[in-house]
Amino acid sequence: TVTLQNLRKEFDDVVAVNGIDLEINHGEFLVIVGPSGCGKSTTLRLLAGLESTTDGRIEMNGQDVTTVEPKDRNVAMVFQNYALYPHMTGRRNITFGMKSSGDFTDEEIDRRVTEAADTLDIADLLDRKPDAMSGGERQRVALGRAIVRDPDAFLMDEPLSNLDAKLRIQMRAELARLHSTLETTTVYVTHDQTEAMTLGERVVVMNDGQIMQVDEPQVLYDFPANRFVAEFIGDPA
Ligand code: ATP
Ligand code: MG
Repeated sequence: TVTLQNLRKEFDDVVAVNGIDLEINHGEFLVIVGPSGCGKSTTLRLLAGLESTTDGRIEMNGQDVTTVEPKDRNVAMVFQNYALYPHMTGRRNITFGMKSSGDFTDEEIDRRVTEAADTLDIADLLDRKPDAMSGGERQRVALGRAIVRDPDAFLMDEPLSNLDAKLRIQMRAELARLHSTLETTTVYVTHDQTEAMTLGERVVVMNDGQIMQVDEPQVLYDFPANRFVAEFIGDPA
């Protein structure tokens, strides 16, 4: 379980996250949706420890991690631009940093890569460099890098937004399958209502740095808490 208490982040004169209280259940697929600039990425970056909090508290599995370094939070972040190293093979991209961390033996790394490659069907990409992969293949390798670490949570920031519509729909199905296989807690950020409603077991609707409503997709449709939610969810993508 991940708990956010009165989470707040200010950048100079901008309040990006304005007092968020949220409990993320172990193993759930939680989607954060809302318009551009509402604070979704900042919330995710606070969870990952990539931004410091202005106020509030973050707990993971009962531990206060509010000021814990990103590398000491057992979470894996997946971004929209894949962030693969162009000069490294798929395998090196997936394992980068694992050797030097000293947390894994070479055999353990090999075993995990084989397992991740199997789960994601990317065995044939391990010896290729990113410029010889399609967008969807790159994103799959980026997912490989996340799952190989066996994190407590996946944090995904619009991971499919650079893909064309057809591939995006295909990858959505793949993410859903991956989640039902691995059952890892996932926090998935998107500004796309359709994506949110398709993927989310629960959906957080944000506006202006605050949470408007948290519910299952059907409940958001049937019982929107306010006009903002009704209009945002009802608006076809
Ligand atoms: P999008 O859907 O466009 O990605 P978002 O919901 O992810 O939007 P954030 O990136 O979290 O929005 O930004 C929330 C607010 O904080 C915005 O007003 C943004 O301009 C501001 N902001 C984000 N990062 C910084 C920063 N490093 N410095 C100053 N302001 C920032
Ligand atoms: Mg964003």
